[in-house]
Amino acid sequence: MALEIEGSNPSAHPIFIQMLRRGSLSIQSGSSLWNPSTNPYLKDLEILKNGDEDGYNMVIHITLESSLEIFAISLPHLLPNRTGPTWSYLVNNDGWTLIDAGPYGALPSLEAGLGIIGKKITDIERVIISHGHQDHDGNTYDVIEKSGAVLWAQEMYFFFLGQHSSYSGLNSDSLLHKSILEFRNHTENSPSRLKSDYAKYRSRFRGYDESRQKIIKQVSQIHTIKDGDSLDKMTFLYTPGHSVDEICIDMDGVLFTGDHILPQITPHPTIVRKYPADLMDKIPDPYKDANNHYGLYCYLSSLGKALKLNNRKTVLPAHRLFNNNKFNIRNLMRGKDIIRHHSTRLKRIVNVIESGVQSPPEITRKLFPPRKLVGGGFFAALSEIVSHLEMLDKTKDIQILQNGNVKSTKQNNFLNVINQLLNDH
Ligand SMILES: [Zn+2]
Repeated sequence: MALEIEGSNPSAHPIFIQMLRRGSLSIQSGSSLWNPSTNPYLKDLEILKNGDEDGYNMVIHITLESSLEIFAISLPHLLPNRTGPTWSYLVNNDGWTLIDAGPYGALPSLEAGLGIIGKKITDIERVIISHGHQDHDGNTYDVIEKSGAVLWAQEMYFFFLGQHSSYSGLNSDSLLHKSILEFRNHTENSPSRLKSDYAKYRSRFRGYDESRQKIIKQVSQIHTIKDGDSLDKMTFLYTPGHSVDEICIDMDGVLFTGDHILPQITPHPTIVRKYPADLMDKIPDPYKDANNHYGLYCYLSSLGKALKLNNRKTVLPAHRLFNNNKFNIRNLMRGKDIIRHHSTRLKRIVNVIESGVQSPPEITRKLFPPRKLVGGGFFAALSEIVSHLEMLDKTKDIQILQNGNVKSTKQNNFLNVINQLLNDH
């Protein structure tokens, strides 16, 4: 009998997991790993190599009803990360194509995974990057250098390759960014432990920044992806918001979502950044207004765009495909859960503002429990709040004061925007 993957999932039972670990057990759809009525395009899922409870070291073979075969290889992060490993997908689409190269330093793990599938790195003809975050493109140069594959990415990816990965894009002209800038400056100037932690953190990523420079200088075979482009069975959707260059790939009954739609995790929306001055002249006209390519409003609009597809397509995410001893096989309706999450947060923020709290750091302290605000947690939480305030500003639900504080306009226009996104699809 088919069961929902979340909740009471027998695959999470220790005995079941032991069975999986014993060998190449093939699991048919009827047995519980996904619900065939909500994911009708999946035919079979086989674990080729078992990993740990969060999917590290796992290799999976997925077959679709269309007979298309997809291999998923779990690649480890450079540093421990609560998102779990990055899932790279290998599929034969006009040649063997790797979707996401994985984190910096992951080449040995990728080669080991390919070996399990019976492939070599030189079999890869094309590497498609879902977006330019380290855990997705960190391994790109190493893969291309060894395979000779062609690099495919959304056109904005190539503009940002030259930027240092720590570039924040905070906009000193934005009143809402004042509090973030103040917090960041305070943190960097303080002789606290944070500063040395940050330096250590950055030094680990030096190799990543260097590898991006090598892509610029040494990788000549590149292909820029634009919204709506297609290649054989793949169609590319431009879905900015979590990242300025994010794409999803629609293929048969699945959508490869990168970090745009993840199970269990709500992807972090960007704040409305300012493009670096030296890029402004080079960035093509359709992208010149950063408001259309960054921020929560942009992210939610991109979710709406993905939801326009057949919602029963299965999400193949870059994280959490397997976590805590169970598979997370969701269809595109997962996008609606994420919209609801942000709707709830927007409502809570509006309530806090209407209760008289006006400054972004204070709103942050009201919204998040203290344990989430220690160390770098406060910075992440504050940026999350600012991204929501930017959306409320766009929908004219708040007024921003000269000192960076905010006031409610008591309009609640955001509810219409959210309802439209939820009801249109
Ligand atoms: Zn990302």
